[in-house]
Amino acid sequence: MSAVLPIRTEEIISYNPATGAEVGRVPQTSADDVKAAVTRSRSAFQNWKKTSFKERAAYIMQAREVILSQMDEIAHLISAESGKPFGEAISMEIAPVLDLMQYFARNTEKLLGPTKIGIGLYALLGRSSKIVYHPLGVVGIIPAWNYPFSIPLGEAVMALMAGNTVVIKPSELTPMVGLKIGEIFEKAQSTTNLRLSNIVQIVTGDGQTGAALVEAAPDKIMFTGSVATGKKIAAAAAKNLTSCVFELGGKDPMIVFADANLELAAGAAVWGAFCNSGQSCSSVERLYVQENVAEVLTRKIVEKVRELTQGVGDSEDISIGAMSSERQIKIVEDHVEDFRAAGAKIEIGGRRNPDLEGLFYEPTVITNASNDMRAMQEETFGPTLPVATFTTEEEAIRLANDSEFGLTASVWTRDRAKGERVARQIEAGSVCVNEVLYTHGIAQTPWGGFKNSGRGRTHGREGLMELVQPQHIHINLLALLPDAWWMPYSPNAIITFRAMARKFASGSIIKTTMLLPQLARRIKELVTKR
Ligand code: NDP
Repeated sequence: MSAVLPIRTEEIISYNPATGAEVGRVPQTSADDVKAAVTRSRSAFQNWKKTSFKERAAYIMQAREVILSQMDEIAHLISAESGKPFGEAISMEIAPVLDLMQYFARNTEKLLGPTKIGIGLYALLGRSSKIVYHPLGVVGIIPAWNYPFSIPLGEAVMALMAGNTVVIKPSELTPMVGLKIGEIFEKAQSTTNLRLSNIVQIVTGDGQTGAALVEAAPDKIMFTGSVATGKKIAAAAAKNLTSCVFELGGKDPMIVFADANLELAAGAAVWGAFCNSGQSCSSVERLYVQENVAEVLTRKIVEKVRELTQGVGDSEDISIGAMSSERQIKIVEDHVEDFRAAGAKIEIGGRRNPDLEGLFYEPTVITNASNDMRAMQEETFGPTLPVATFTTEEEAIRLANDSEFGLTASVWTRDRAKGERVARQIEAGSVCVNEVLYTHGIAQTPWGGFKNSGRGRTHGREGLMELVQPQHIHINLLALLPDAWWMPYSPNAIITFRAMARKFASGSIIKTTMLLPQLARRIKELVTKR
């Protein structure tokens, strides 16, 4: 359905991928206007950084109230623009981000509180060190279209709580959801005592607008998207030394051992592969099952897929919605064709849904897949579940790690020790044992990938650390005498320096104590030379 593709004009038209109906129109923001937005954001930062954590939290909690009061309206908008089922708009976007908002509103002050650092032997010399955290300034957020509400909003909340201001460039496929985020913050502000503007700004447009945001040199870029765009942004950001967090693609493996609860694993595989029509960065895109239970697990999975209803996501009993774009559905067709041509077997699905007019691809289960097939290496980002088999634990780990990506993985076994042993050997940022996909929804834990799945983290304390700069405050509590290493140097100084290299730098308290008389001689020398 080519009518679903946005038309490149001064204006971007957003369409519902399930029905082809227009959802809304937004301007293609020019590079000059993006630059002006970043300038406004930078000046707003001067006031916002001075607000207390309590004031910031009140603002975020107020935004949370706005979302709660408009929950169904927002879920319908997300569903209309992305094609995902209404239920998933609530369970996978609104609910987790509401939790993230309360968590960071309540805990950022503690998470970013000054940290006292043990400085070993320097403490013996009467010194003390602490780290305090400063906001960066303007954070530019460039998200993908697949979680158009929760990802940019969650990142904005963390950035704001850390004291930064924010400019978001939503995907051209989901600009109305982007504007909704701006509207939520505006409404929240009007109900608090804060009289600040341009704390959160939304600049709509396509990739060029995203490039203009990078060009405008914000103090940080939070990017979610493909590896290819990530590399372009890294190159452009390098010109201004802008640091970036990259949340990129995945080809996430699920390993099912013969001793797993197969009924549960089958349900997890279906949800993990097909929620959001497989358009999650942490979708299960490769299932490795121990050979002797492969048949029974596959049968269970196929039976569960048969029970699913596909259709326009607006309706409450739909489990599989539309895909987001014609471009994406073509990648799925190409990969399914690759599997077919390479000798894999399509157990169910394997085609566009012939009964539906929009961008619907049937949930597809594929057996006899193997890692040498192209479609087992490239990210599909669609409703396909290829199944391959293994015999030993070592083989399962090797197959799972045979990928350029490393976002998440899951291991299924009733043996908890084996589960954790295998999990630690998987090259992925987040590995679940007897769980799948959902850990992006946990605000407290870091999210990010190994290998080509990304750089940096969002969520958790690690995510907050990406949004601040640490400052080391070092205090000399006994500031009466010069340091032994100060000028002028002398033969006695050199003796002291050699002793310091041998004793002080050894990390041993006993050796350092033995050094004290020499240090005292050297300091006396400096004092008498004054
Ligand atoms: P893209 O890389 O195509 O686009 C991502 C964002 O970048 C969009 O807002 C896009 O705008 C914008 N953009 C495009 N070109 C540029 C440019 N030159 N400079 C700056 N911004 C630009 O990714 P998709 O939208 O197709 O998203 C799918 C990808 O995102 C998948 O690989 C998926 O795995 C990954 N992803 C990763 C997640 C993670 O947490 N690791 C989470 C979710 C998705 P526009 O859309 O308007 O072109």
